[in-house]
Amino acid sequence: MSRSSSGDSTQLSAAELAAKIHARELSSEEVTRAHLDRIAEVDGEYNAFLHVAPEAALAAARVVDASLAAGAEPASALAGVPLALKDVFTTTDMPTTCASKILEGWMSPYDATVTAKLRAAGIPILGKTNMDEFAMGSSTENSAYGPTRNPWDTTRIPGGSGGGSAAALASHQAPLAIGTDTGGSIRQPAAVTATVGTKPTYGTVSRYGLVACASSLDQGGPCGRTVLDTALLHEVIAGHDPRDSTSRDVPIPAVVAAAREGARADLAGVKVGVVRELHSDSYQPGVLASFDAAVAVLKDLGAEVIEVSCPHFEYGLPSYYLVMPSEVSSNLARFDAMRYGLRAGDDGTHSADQVMALTRAAGFGPEVKRRIMLGTYALSAGYYDAYYGQALKVRTLIAQDFDRAYEQVDVLVSPTSPFTPWKLGEKVDDPLAMYLSDLCTLPTNLAGHPAMSVPSGLSVDDGMPVGLQIMAPAFADDRLYRVGAAYEAARGPIA
Ligand code: GLN
Repeated sequence: MSRSSSGDSTQLSAAELAAKIHARELSSEEVTRAHLDRIAEVDGEYNAFLHVAPEAALAAARVVDASLAAGAEPASALAGVPLALKDVFTTTDMPTTCASKILEGWMSPYDATVTAKLRAAGIPILGKTNMDEFAMGSSTENSAYGPTRNPWDTTRIPGGSGGGSAAALASHQAPLAIGTDTGGSIRQPAAVTATVGTKPTYGTVSRYGLVACASSLDQGGPCGRTVLDTALLHEVIAGHDPRDSTSRDVPIPAVVAAAREGARADLAGVKVGVVRELHSDSYQPGVLASFDAAVAVLKDLGAEVIEVSCPHFEYGLPSYYLVMPSEVSSNLARFDAMRYGLRAGDDGTHSADQVMALTRAAGFGPEVKRRIMLGTYALSAGYYDAYYGQALKVRTLIAQDFDRAYEQVDVLVSPTSPFTPWKLGEKVDDPLAMYLSDLCTLPTNLAGHPAMSVPSGLSVDDGMPVGLQIMAPAFADDRLYRVGAAYEAARGPIA
């Protein structure tokens, strides 16, 4: 992986940058400029960004610097630290495309709540990151604007759907990023790029202005290179939002305090469950070896480790791939050629229906079309009970497995992904092989629970990054940070 020269602010963590900016040892403007320079220098190689906004980012940075110079308190713990935003959150000053042709150049009339919270926190937004089209995929190859490449090996995928955010972090183009996780799109890219990512408890980060993929599963979340940085960002974006009907009006767990406590590297009294069903011989041997080594580290830290069984997890994949496309088929009906972006065949010779069909045929990529068709079928009369109805029952059984497991343990652990990053192109013609990479991440989305991926080293088989997944009960996101930070401290640097 190419790194810029030492002494430059792109090498620092977000927590370190915030401390220096708030002490006025560095200005937010110079830090933001260093990251913009880095993007200009290296992103041709990675394609992590779909849009870069130098003027807006520098203007936001200057506002932070001026306020600090005037003696004001920082607007947040991360004020002045720049960030990369997944191109699925609306922004009024940059296009929002969801990496789709159907939204090419589309400007939102309003900011997502997450975007607004970042702005209010004094976080300059560097640009919008690449992703699988409408967040459907596990490799970022489904982007209409070309794939993102993994900074650890540019012939390999950066994970998906949030590959752009993860690659931006791993290549030091941004110290912080925002992702979304419907079935693993924050955690799996984190795992394969050796970065950290958290899917918060469903309902604790607003979905207002997050372009909907599967509404009962979608959740925005923080991404960073360290557990503490991720916690700091988590506290900025979480919170009740009356504009999101599924937003929960509950206190947000103290994740920053938990990360700081975890950094003391003591897990005495913490019970960790290893999920038997997420540890299979079909996983890559190097992934299993890394996972087993991580579990040994947790034991050394004083955790009590036991094996637990969640028998319905093996049906997580079929359940998810019915629920998720069903919601997609409904949500993506709004792209009807009348309200947003692209309009094809509007030459006076076609009916409104024909314009809609031509626009959707031209504007959506193959994976999006596949999901719309799968979902429409699963919801159709005569099949609803057999497919969608059954999938919902399995969803309940999975949630019950979690409930039973959490009677015995505080957190559950598994590999984040069964595989390290594969070669670009390797799975594009085999959707099922692509879906199998989500095996370990899907159950938490179906249950609405929080989970994190933290780097667990490089695989002995190919030298590529592996992630440890930590899962916790709903509204206990703080446990992820305590265990994740303790593990990170004991594990030491990755490479
Ligand atoms: N890879 C999963 C899918 O393709 C998850 C996507 C996501 O979390 N947005 O659906």
